[in-house]
Amino acid sequence: MNNYDAIIIGAGFAGAVTARKLAENGQQVLLLEQRGHIGGNAYDRLDDAGVLIHEYGPHIFHTNSKPVYDFLSRFTEWRDYEHRVVAKIGDMEMPVPFNLTSLYLAFGEEKGRRLEEMLENIYGSDRKITILDLRQNPEPEIREVAEYVYEHVFKYYTMKQWGLKPEEIDPSVTARVPVFLSRDDRYFQDRYQGIPKEGYTVLFEKMLNHPNITVRLNTAAKDVLQFDELHSTITVDGEPFEGSVVYTGALDELFDCRFGQLPYRSLKFEFETYPQEWYQSHGTVNYTVDQDYTRITEFKYFSGQKLPSTTIVKEYPKAYNGAPDIPYYAIINPKNRRLYDRYLAVSKHFQQLHLIGRLAEYQYYNMDAIVEKALALSEELQK
Ligand SMILES: Cc1cc2nc3c(=O)[nH]c(=O)nc-3n(C[C@H](O)[C@H](O)[C@H](O)COP(=O)(O)OP(=O)(O)OC[C@H]3O[C@@H](n4cnc5c(N)ncnc54)[C@H](O)[C@@H]3O)c2cc1C
Repeated sequence: MNNYDAIIIGAGFAGAVTARKLAENGQQVLLLEQRGHIGGNAYDRLDDAGVLIHEYGPHIFHTNSKPVYDFLSRFTEWRDYEHRVVAKIGDMEMPVPFNLTSLYLAFGEEKGRRLEEMLENIYGSDRKITILDLRQNPEPEIREVAEYVYEHVFKYYTMKQWGLKPEEIDPSVTARVPVFLSRDDRYFQDRYQGIPKEGYTVLFEKMLNHPNITVRLNTAAKDVLQFDELHSTITVDGEPFEGSVVYTGALDELFDCRFGQLPYRSLKFEFETYPQEWYQSHGTVNYTVDQDYTRITEFKYFSGQKLPSTTIVKEYPKAYNGAPDIPYYAIINPKNRRLYDRYLAVSKHFQQLHLIGRLAEYQYYNMDAIVEKALALSEELQK
């Protein structure tokens, strides 16, 4: 065990990218993953109907970073896919983020045209503004647009997502709700967008296929590593380990949740297969004014598969009560940050320990941001 230069915990993007880069640097890497598969939350697989589903929720790759795109492109080709989302409001399907097309749907042709002109005169075109900008406008009709977006697109969705009452919604979050003064109805405007042609799991298989990488599935960090705070040492099966340890799991769990559990929001996914080619009009439909689920995603839009049946997933946000719930979204506020910082202070006992990833850093990151961070960390850990 001690022939390894680095031990990495977690085979999601954070761990797998770091493993690959260190392996290419000539280091012997052991990658531990507690689940029975690689890929972290980006893991995908074929279901019984042959549809490539994303087990932990829909993942669409998008980035403006050429280094990130180039790095991942070594392990996959891409299927061009630009994500479009609509909010289902009664019989209407309204593009989100709210844009000029949405404006006409919400206010009708005549008023829509007047509002478009007013908005363009005040803010210019092709710009992203926030509902705070609109709310601060002296013109009542402009403020009405802000109220519409808040009530029909944002409020109920956010209440479901975070389990909040309306008065508990953070005003600073509300202020940032975007309105796009454009007819570009793509969900992301990034330069590179797509889905790995053979799926994320195949991308990970290729990335981890290196003679210097050993992957051990169904193995939690604590099965192998012991953290001795008194002596600031990490031991592997009782023997001191001096290499780098890269941890991408939840930080509170590493230290036995001794100060209490870090709060997260979890999700329940309900997959349904239908004997018809398509289920809905877009890859994702958000339910912003009714239903208990927040959104429905239809996977064939991502994979481009031609099959007689189709699989969708409904997302139900829920409280996180520890395993078997999966911690999906860190609930970031000053109180929770202070709790996280207490765990961070304990981690500082171990100089060789590096924390990276959405769990270890108690942060939300898109995939590209994590790949970028992992590439930077690998540079730091080069021999
Ligand atoms: C519902 C949802 C949808 C998303 N959609 C998108 C999207 O469309 N586009 C996008 O860019 N990003 C998306 N993301 C974000 C994306 O999932 C993250 O950026 C990515 O998962 C971060 O990778 P990671 O390696 O930090 O974490 P993870 O993917 O969670 O990987 C961590 C791995 O560590 C393992 N692990 C944890 N603790 C231990 C332990 N003690 N021992 C061994 N193994 C351990 C876990 O089992 C897991 O496999 C989405 C996130 C969610 C929740």
